[in-house]
Amino acid sequence: MANTWVVVDRIPDCDMCKLGPYPRTAPAYADGKTEMGPWANMCQPCFDHYGIGLGLGLGQELLLPGNAPSKEAI
Ligand SMILES: [Zn+2]
Repeated sequence: MANTWVVVDRIPDCDMCKLGPYPRTAPAYADGKTEMGPWANMCQPCFDHYGIGLGLGLGQELLLPGNAPSKEAI
């Protein structure tokens, strides 16, 4: 039972990159709780900046079905 990742059919766009003065589109690395409180899809740089970690109640790394087996040891 892993709480640090979740398999999704499609990687969503980073929610944080859409905000701000220079909106851009980036594939999300994780769906997680931000230091501001709300949950968001975040790319790696945004997760490093706004995320509070991976785990139950914190966030889950987003993986496509083909990427999941390598994470089975977690
Ligand atoms: Zn981002």
